[in-house]
Amino acid sequence: MLTLALSKGRIFDDTLPLLARAGITVAEDPESTRKLILPTNRADLRVVLVRASDVPTYVRYGGADFGVAGLDVLLEADATLGGDGMYRPVDLGIARCRLSVATPQGFDYAHAVRQGSRLRVATKYVHLAREHFAAKGVHVDLVKLYGSMELAPLIGLADAIVDLVSSGGTLRANGLVEVEPIMDISARLIVNQAAFKTKTAALKPLVDGLREASNNIP
Ligand code: ATP
Ligand code: MG
Repeated sequence: MLTLALSKGRIFDDTLPLLARAGITVAEDPESTRKLILPTNRADLRVVLVRASDVPTYVRYGGADFGVAGLDVLLEADATLGGDGMYRPVDLGIARCRLSVATPQGFDYAHAVRQGSRLRVATKYVHLAREHFAAKGVHVDLVKLYGSMELAPLIGLADAIVDLVSSGGTLRANGLVEVEPIMDISARLIVNQAAFKTKTAALKPLVDGLREASNNIP
Protein backbone atom coordinates (compact mmCIF):
# COMPACT_ATOMS: atom_id res chain seq x y z
CA MET A 1 0.00 0.00 0.00
CA LEU A 2 1.25 3.49 -0.94
CA THR A 3 0.19 6.61 0.94
CA LEU A 4 0.14 10.07 -0.67
CA ALA A 5 -0.13 13.10 1.65
CA LEU A 6 -2.07 16.10 0.35
CA SER A 7 -3.59 19.17 1.98
CA LYS A 8 -7.16 20.27 1.34
CA GLY A 9 -7.80 23.26 -0.90
CA ARG A 10 -5.32 24.55 -3.46
CA ILE A 11 -2.83 21.69 -3.24
CA PHE A 12 -5.51 19.00 -3.50
CA ASP A 13 -7.41 20.84 -6.26
CA ASP A 14 -4.27 21.43 -8.36
CA THR A 15 -2.85 17.93 -7.81
CA LEU A 16 -6.07 16.18 -8.85
CA PRO A 17 -5.68 16.89 -12.62
CA LEU A 18 -2.06 15.70 -12.49
CA LEU A 19 -3.14 12.49 -10.79
CA ALA A 20 -5.88 12.08 -13.40
CA ARG A 21 -3.33 12.38 -16.20
CA ALA A 22 -1.32 9.66 -14.45
CA GLY A 23 -4.47 7.49 -14.45
CA ILE A 24 -5.42 8.02 -10.82
CA THR A 25 -8.77 9.21 -9.54
CA VAL A 26 -9.57 9.95 -5.91
CA ALA A 27 -12.81 8.35 -4.78
CA GLU A 28 -14.11 11.17 -2.59
CA ASP A 29 -14.13 14.96 -2.46
CA PRO A 30 -12.36 16.32 0.66
CA GLU A 31 -14.77 19.27 0.83
CA SER A 32 -17.80 16.99 1.24
CA THR A 33 -16.39 14.17 3.36
CA ARG A 34 -14.99 14.19 6.86
CA LYS A 35 -12.74 11.26 6.12
CA LEU A 36 -9.01 11.84 6.33
CA ILE A 37 -8.08 8.73 4.37
CA LEU A 38 -9.41 8.69 0.81
CA PRO A 39 -9.25 5.60 -1.38
CA THR A 40 -8.31 5.92 -5.04
CA ASN A 41 -9.16 3.86 -8.13
CA ARG A 42 -6.01 1.89 -7.37
CA ALA A 43 -6.24 -0.64 -4.55
CA ASP A 44 -2.56 -0.03 -3.70
CA LEU A 45 -2.82 3.78 -3.36
CA ARG A 46 -4.57 5.97 -0.81
CA VAL A 47 -4.55 9.69 -0.11
CA VAL A 48 -4.27 11.12 3.41
CA LEU A 49 -5.44 14.68 4.09
CA VAL A 50 -3.18 16.65 6.41
CA ARG A 51 -2.47 20.29 7.23
CA ALA A 52 -0.35 21.91 4.44
CA SER A 53 2.49 22.55 6.87
CA ASP A 54 2.35 18.94 8.12
CA VAL A 55 2.94 17.32 4.70
CA PRO A 56 6.79 17.37 5.04
CA THR A 57 6.51 15.90 8.54
CA TYR A 58 4.37 12.98 7.35
CA VAL A 59 6.71 12.26 4.45
CA ARG A 60 9.91 12.79 6.45
CA TYR A 61 8.87 10.24 9.10
CA GLY A 62 7.27 7.76 6.69
CA GLY A 63 3.66 8.38 7.74
CA ALA A 64 3.19 8.94 4.02
CA ASP A 65 5.42 7.58 1.25
CA PHE A 66 5.09 10.73 -0.81
CA GLY A 67 3.30 14.06 -0.76
CA VAL A 68 2.79 17.46 -2.34
CA ALA A 69 3.96 20.58 -0.50
CA GLY A 70 4.56 24.23 -1.40
CA LEU A 71 8.21 25.31 -1.60
CA ASP A 72 7.38 27.82 1.16
CA VAL A 73 6.32 25.02 3.50
CA LEU A 74 9.26 22.82 2.45
CA LEU A 75 11.95 25.44 3.02
CA GLU A 76 10.41 26.48 6.31
CA ALA A 77 10.28 22.81 7.37
CA ASP A 78 13.98 22.38 6.47
CA ALA A 79 14.81 24.71 9.34
CA THR A 80 13.12 22.44 11.87
CA LEU A 81 13.06 18.92 10.34
CA GLY A 82 16.35 19.16 8.46
CA GLY A 83 16.56 18.41 4.74
CA ASP A 84 17.33 14.69 5.22
CA GLY A 85 15.07 11.72 4.61
CA MET A 86 13.20 13.21 1.65
CA TYR A 87 13.72 13.41 -2.07
CA ARG A 88 12.22 16.34 -3.99
CA PRO A 89 12.22 14.90 -7.48
CA VAL A 90 9.61 17.07 -9.22
CA ASP A 91 8.60 20.72 -9.36
CA LEU A 92 4.93 20.18 -10.17
CA GLY A 93 4.48 23.80 -11.29
CA ILE A 94 1.13 24.07 -9.48
CA ALA A 95 -0.05 26.42 -6.70
CA ARG A 96 2.24 29.09 -8.07
CA CYS A 97 2.71 32.30 -6.11
CA ARG A 98 5.54 34.29 -4.59
CA LEU A 99 6.80 35.05 -1.11
CA SER A 100 6.98 38.80 -0.66
CA VAL A 101 7.34 41.64 1.80
CA ALA A 102 4.24 43.84 2.01
CA THR A 103 3.57 47.03 3.95
CA PRO A 104 0.70 49.48 4.43
CA GLN A 105 0.30 51.85 1.44
CA GLY A 106 1.71 54.88 3.26
CA PHE A 107 4.80 53.18 4.69
CA ASP A 108 8.09 54.09 2.95
CA TYR A 109 9.82 50.72 3.12
CA ALA A 110 12.82 51.72 0.97
CA HIS A 111 13.40 54.74 3.18
CA ALA A 112 13.14 52.68 6.37
CA VAL A 113 15.68 50.21 4.97
CA ARG A 114 18.07 53.03 3.94
CA GLN A 115 17.77 54.57 7.40
CA GLY A 116 18.68 51.24 8.99
CA SER A 117 15.43 51.33 10.99
CA ARG A 118 14.51 48.30 13.03
CA LEU A 119 11.39 46.77 11.47
CA ARG A 120 8.75 44.69 13.12
CA VAL A 121 7.65 41.98 10.69
CA ALA A 122 4.75 39.56 11.14
CA THR A 123 4.88 36.25 9.31
CA LYS A 124 4.18 32.54 9.30
CA TYR A 125 7.61 32.08 7.65
CA VAL A 126 9.99 33.17 10.39
CA HIS A 127 12.97 31.20 9.11
CA LEU A 128 12.65 32.36 5.50
CA ALA A 129 12.01 35.94 6.66
CA ARG A 130 15.01 35.89 9.00
CA GLU A 131 17.28 34.70 6.17
CA HIS A 132 15.93 37.30 3.75
CA PHE A 133 16.40 40.29 6.05
CA ALA A 134 19.77 39.05 7.36
CA ALA A 135 21.05 38.83 3.75
CA LYS A 136 19.92 42.45 3.21
CA GLY A 137 21.39 43.59 6.50
CA VAL A 138 18.00 44.78 7.74
CA HIS A 139 17.32 44.49 11.46
CA VAL A 140 13.96 42.91 12.18
CA ASP A 141 11.88 41.77 15.10
CA LEU A 142 9.86 38.84 13.83
CA VAL A 143 6.36 38.15 15.10
CA LYS A 144 5.21 34.60 14.41
CA LEU A 145 1.60 34.30 13.24
CA TYR A 146 -0.30 31.27 11.92
CA GLY A 147 -2.66 33.09 9.53
CA SER A 148 -4.34 36.38 8.52
CA MET A 149 -0.96 38.10 8.35
CA GLU A 150 -2.58 41.05 6.49
CA LEU A 151 -4.25 42.10 9.71
CA ALA A 152 -1.03 42.70 11.66
CA PRO A 153 0.04 46.05 10.08
CA LEU A 154 -3.54 47.35 10.18
CA ILE A 155 -3.70 46.83 13.94
CA GLY A 156 -0.22 48.19 14.62
CA LEU A 157 1.21 44.79 15.46
CA ALA A 158 3.84 45.08 12.71
CA ASP A 159 5.34 47.48 10.13
CA ALA A 160 5.43 44.82 7.45
CA ILE A 161 4.47 41.24 6.69
CA VAL A 162 6.13 38.42 4.79
CA ASP A 163 3.44 36.39 3.06
CA LEU A 164 2.43 34.60 -0.13
CA VAL A 165 1.04 36.74 -2.94
CA SER A 166 -0.56 35.62 -6.18
CA SER A 167 -2.98 38.20 -7.62
CA GLY A 168 -2.37 40.73 -4.86
CA GLY A 169 -6.13 40.98 -4.28
CA THR A 170 -5.97 40.17 -0.58
CA LEU A 171 -3.21 42.73 0.00
CA ARG A 172 -5.15 45.40 -1.93
CA ALA A 173 -8.35 44.66 -0.04
CA ASN A 174 -6.45 45.41 3.18
CA GLY A 175 -4.62 48.54 2.02
CA LEU A 176 -1.27 46.79 1.71
CA VAL A 177 1.25 46.86 -1.14
CA GLU A 178 3.88 44.35 -2.19
CA VAL A 179 7.22 46.12 -1.74
CA GLU A 180 9.74 43.32 -2.25
CA PRO A 181 9.48 39.86 -3.84
CA ILE A 182 11.58 37.27 -2.00
CA MET A 183 11.15 34.11 -4.07
CA ASP A 184 8.90 32.31 -6.54
CA ILE A 185 6.91 29.45 -5.04
CA SER A 186 5.35 26.35 -6.55
CA ALA A 187 4.38 22.96 -5.17
CA ARG A 188 6.87 20.09 -5.13
CA LEU A 189 6.50 16.35 -5.06
CA ILE A 190 8.37 14.98 -2.05
CA VAL A 191 9.21 11.33 -1.49
CA ASN A 192 10.34 9.46 1.63
CA GLN A 193 13.84 8.16 0.85
CA ALA A 194 13.49 4.81 2.59
CA ALA A 195 10.12 4.20 0.90
CA PHE A 196 11.61 5.03 -2.48
CA LYS A 197 14.27 2.37 -1.90
CA THR A 198 11.99 -0.37 -0.56
CA LYS A 199 8.93 0.34 -2.78
CA THR A 200 10.70 1.47 -5.96
CA ALA A 201 8.64 -0.74 -8.28
CA ALA A 202 5.38 0.85 -7.12
CA LEU A 203 6.59 4.40 -6.41
CA LYS A 204 8.83 5.14 -9.37
CA PRO A 205 6.11 4.84 -12.04
CA LEU A 206 3.93 7.22 -10.00
CA VAL A 207 6.73 9.76 -9.60
CA ASP A 208 7.50 9.49 -13.33
CA GLY A 209 3.79 9.75 -14.19
CA LEU A 210 3.39 12.92 -12.12
CA ARG A 211 6.56 14.41 -13.62
CA GLU A 212 5.24 13.66 -17.10
CA ALA A 213 1.81 15.13 -16.23
CA SER A 214 3.34 18.30 -14.77
CA ASN A 215 5.54 18.82 -17.85
CA ASN A 216 2.41 18.87 -19.95
CA ILE A 217 0.32 21.38 -18.05
CA PRO A 218 -1.49 23.27 -20.83
P1 ATP B 1 -2.93 25.86 6.75
O1 ATP B 1 -4.39 26.17 6.51
O2 ATP B 1 -2.67 24.42 7.07
O3 ATP B 1 -2.24 26.82 7.64
P2 ATP B 1 -2.40 27.17 4.30
O4 ATP B 1 -3.47 28.12 4.68
O5 ATP B 1 -1.05 27.69 3.98
O6 ATP B 1 -2.23 26.01 5.34
P3 ATP B 1 -3.31 26.84 1.63
O7 ATP B 1 -3.80 28.22 1.66
O8 ATP B 1 -4.12 25.75 1.04
O9 ATP B 1 -2.93 26.33 3.07
O10 ATP B 1 -1.88 26.87 0.90
C1 ATP B 1 -1.21 25.69 0.60
C2 ATP B 1 -0.05 26.02 -0.31
O11 ATP B 1 -0.54 26.59 -1.52
C3 ATP B 1 0.93 27.05 0.27
O12 ATP B 1 1.89 26.43 1.07
C4 ATP B 1 1.51 27.65 -0.99
O13 ATP B 1 2.58 26.86 -1.48
C5 ATP B 1 0.33 27.62 -1.95
N1 ATP B 1 -0.39 28.89 -1.93
C6 ATP B 1 -0.78 29.60 -0.87
N2 ATP B 1 -1.39 30.74 -1.20
C7 ATP B 1 -1.38 30.78 -2.53
C8 ATP B 1 -1.87 31.69 -3.50
N3 ATP B 1 -2.46 32.84 -3.14
N4 ATP B 1 -1.73 31.39 -4.79
C9 ATP B 1 -1.15 30.24 -5.16
N5 ATP B 1 -0.63 29.34 -4.30
C10 ATP B 1 -0.75 29.59 -3.01
MG1 MG C 1 -5.42 27.88 5.39
